[in-house]
Amino acid sequence: MDLNNLKSDPIVVVGGGFGGLSTVQALLARSDGTPIILIDQSSRFLFKPLLYELLSGELELWEVAPQYSALASELGFIFLQDCVLEVDELERKIITSSDTEVKYSQLVISTGVTTDYSLVGGLREYAYGFSNLNDLLRIKELITSINNSSNYTKPVVISGAGPTGVELACKLSDLVDNRLEIYLVDKGSQILSKSKSFNREKAIDAIAERNIKIYLEHYIESINENFIELSTVHNEKYNSLKINYSNVVWTAGLKPCRLKLLDHFLDENKKIKVNQFLQIDDCQNIFFVGDIVFCENYPFPSSAQVAMQQGFLTAQNIISLRQGNKLQSFQFEDLGEMLSLGIGNASITGYGITLAGPLAFKIRYWAYLMRMPGFSLSFKSAGSRLFSKK
Ligand SMILES: Cc1cc2nc3c(=O)[nH]c(=O)nc-3n(C[C@H](O)[C@H](O)[C@H](O)COP(=O)(O)OP(=O)(O)OC[C@H]3O[C@@H](n4cnc5c(N)ncnc54)[C@H](O)[C@@H]3O)c2cc1C
Repeated sequence: MDLNNLKSDPIVVVGGGFGGLSTVQALLARSDGTPIILIDQSSRFLFKPLLYELLSGELELWEVAPQYSALASELGFIFLQDCVLEVDELERKIITSSDTEVKYSQLVISTGVTTDYSLVGGLREYAYGFSNLNDLLRIKELITSINNSSNYTKPVVISGAGPTGVELACKLSDLVDNRLEIYLVDKGSQILSKSKSFNREKAIDAIAERNIKIYLEHYIESINENFIELSTVHNEKYNSLKINYSNVVWTAGLKPCRLKLLDHFLDENKKIKVNQFLQIDDCQNIFFVGDIVFCENYPFPSSAQVAMQQGFLTAQNIISLRQGNKLQSFQFEDLGEMLSLGIGNASITGYGITLAGPLAFKIRYWAYLMRMPGFSLSFKSAGSRLFSKK
């Protein structure tokens, strides 16, 4: 496709995760004929909340990670698989790793976050992350080797008892038939500190039923090939604990992807400080969406729900900007929270219900499926499959 022969400068969205793809979908719904280009370094959208079910084989790759090319032809946008390296604000163009230059009329940056291995010595060498398809493949291999070995006796340590750590611990435990000890380590005084209390209680029950041991108020100090050193302060006394571990998964720290692209937009917390319109004050034609942003005056969590709501608002604001109308402020509407708690089990608070167990698992799946970009595409395949399962 000749990007230089478009009938007008396109709206360009960089990063096709929850934030970017929602922006594209909402722009298409309000289309004024301006071409819309989505650029992502990957070939597939990844529905991260269903990564656990992909790990367990309850769902398959095509259900959780549709190809952008299929979404582009179904929804009607232009997809370019490339990695964006730079933004030239003066020339209003982006530059990619294949040296392609794409001019934009408005630009949306939604490049998400990835595991930060720089926080503790030894992480990069010894820890697994759990945020993309490569991480998933490594953990799948780990599960296979645990299940194929009779002398896997040392524990797997999962750092971070937020949703990712807790959900992964439960699923992993089920996938190795509880044969292996899993240590869940967190510096806080409770698991799921930001979650709804019903979901936290159900998670505590799910953990108690499995071979999972929790270490709260513990910090990982260092990791080497054989040991993880944990520290804790009790009655003003510093204690340390050495764990002879088999594998470690790090879910406790994230940083923005591709620092070079964002370098001059990031603040000291490695996030982009935006105003209520999800802009930086002196860049009127650039919007920032999703996990990479924070707003001091209008705080919101980092989640798929937030990224999607920001995407919808950004599309509306881009149209307003183009028509010379006033922009709307972002306000997060909390619709609730759903947790995966092992094979065939989930907990839901919100969406008008409070429910845990196998029915919650099915409702969670359907609620996510409805939000899958290109719903009809995923519906054709995944819907019928789910009903054919026990
Ligand atoms: C295992 C797991 C489970 C989760 N479960 C939940 C849940 O149950 N509920 C919930 O609300 N949230 C959940 N989250 C969080 C949620 O997935 C994120 O908040 C959400 O994905 C953020 O959307 P985003 O658009 O900001 O970034 P992402 O969805 O991460 O998308 C960023 C995209 O940008 C692309 N990209 C990055 N850099 C470049 C570049 N330089 N050039 C081109 N493309 C680039 C990436 O390839 C990626 O496709 C979960 C996260 C994980 C890891």
